Amino acid sequence: MPPHVIVIGAGTGGLCLAQGLRQAGVSVAVYERDQTREDGLFGYRVGIDPDGSRALAACLPEDLFQVFVATKAETPRFMNIFTEKRAELLRMGEWDTPEPSDPIDSEKSISRMTLRQVLLTGIEDIVHFGKEFVRYHQNADDTVTAHFADGSTARGDLLVAADGSSSAVRRQYLPHASMDTVDAKCVTAKLPLNAESRSLLTPEMLRGVTMINAPGGYACIIHVMEFKWDRDGTLKNDIGGNDSALLSTWPGLKYDNTRDYVMWGWSAPGKRLPADFMRLPGDELRKIVLEHTKDWHPRFRALFEAADPTTAFPLQVRTTTPLKPWPTSTITLLGDAIHTMTPGLGVGANTALRDAENLVRQLVIAHRGEKPLVDAVRAYEAEMHSYAWELVRKSKSQFGGNLPLDKPVIGRALLAGMRTGLRAFNHMPNAKRKAVQAMEKTRGHRRRQR
Ligand SMILES: Cc1cc2nc3c(=O)[nH]c(=O)nc-3n(C[C@H](O)[C@H](O)[C@H](O)COP(=O)(O)OP(=O)(O)OC[C@H]3O[C@@H](n4cnc5c(N)ncnc54)[C@H](O)[C@@H]3O)c2cc1C
Repeated sequence: MPPHVIVIGAGTGGLCLAQGLRQAGVSVAVYERDQTREDGLFGYRVGIDPDGSRALAACLPEDLFQVFVATKAETPRFMNIFTEKRAELLRMGEWDTPEPSDPIDSEKSISRMTLRQVLLTGIEDIVHFGKEFVRYHQNADDTVTAHFADGSTARGDLLVAADGSSSAVRRQYLPHASMDTVDAKCVTAKLPLNAESRSLLTPEMLRGVTMINAPGGYACIIHVMEFKWDRDGTLKNDIGGNDSALLSTWPGLKYDNTRDYVMWGWSAPGKRLPADFMRLPGDELRKIVLEHTKDWHPRFRALFEAADPTTAFPLQVRTTTPLKPWPTSTITLLGDAIHTMTPGLGVGANTALRDAENLVRQLVIAHRGEKPLVDAVRAYEAEMHSYAWELVRKSKSQFGGNLPLDKPVIGRALLAGMRTGLRAFNHMPNAKRKAVQAMEKTRGHRRRQR
């Protein structure tokens, strides 16, 4: 009998997996605890790199992949680093090269809510909302039964945990798996991109990604996201015929509440924040950011002040302790459920997509009867182990907590040295151009291998 796959979690990886399996004719159903397709903390930006795009191209129907590409925000053209006093340290991208147009090899700024709507398109009938997974049972015939909080159950030949970093499946299946908390916490919030918010940003900030490095381990990242539709959700006039045709017939746009926005993510060493930080509502979080940034430039503070408190949420940066392979069964995991990473490399979503693509490939082989299901899962897990833990380690080494820069005395000295170095580098256009080219080569592993 061809396998029936049950997926827990309708996030980035779970939905990509479901799309790929649906395409290949493998029976699949997804169970998500959010009540509707518009719920959840999806109001932020993810950078999709060539690995992520390649996985999406492999799993989505061709026309839906084109819709995905059409929903990207305007591509950032600058990478800026500023001090907290708004002095420029580095600006990369002032040379006007043509915007990368390859649908796979280009970096894309995507809104998570939009991505969810793209990934739901055409598979709405197999995604069940309001289903909070609580536990599973492995049956004598090797099938698995998932139990949900509402008392209902679902049975499948394979259960895939795609339920994110606090995975309830992982807790039961791999109770020895542990998470390290990094001593860094963040607040992320958004404000509409309008005349007022534009006036707070330089032209390069408006067209790029901006990082702010401040003493004491404080930092901030600012993204400006401009989409092809306006505040009413109507397509803008100048978006080009092809995108216009794709988006005007895409049903997902009516569920997507994403509008042009400025997003900031402020981070601080956890020890400097109150103990109840993770439980605070948006307006309290915003207040904390303002209290800790009293000596920052008034325009940065105005951005914090103008953020919509209903969009603000706290984040404890966490990372999975790398795991050794476990005996394979008819339960497996992908994405954050198995390898949560810090935002250091910005590859959490890309790796979840890559897992989904790999698992689809293996399950299609099992579906054709060319391999037993458990062997297919084993092959997927072996491949996932081969790249995931290296990315977990690298992401950890690049994000906060115990970095020397966060230390009180040595940190200040290092920051001063780093700033001097960045200022000098800022005046070397050829070196900067080479650095951008080198950076581009490292995003998306298969591209790097070429
Ligand atoms: C602010 C921010 C910025 C980020 N930026 C980037 C970036 O630029 N690039 C990048 O690659 N990554 C980025 N990431 C990381 C990325 O979002 C995650 O790594 C990625 O979403 C993981 O996908 P996933 O499918 O594993 O989990 P998720 O997308 O988190 O999906 C998990 C799903 O499971 C559901 N769920 C949870 N528990 C249950 C349950 N018990 N029962 C049923 N359903 C359940 C959840 O509601 C959710 O829908 C960012 C993360 C944050 C917070």
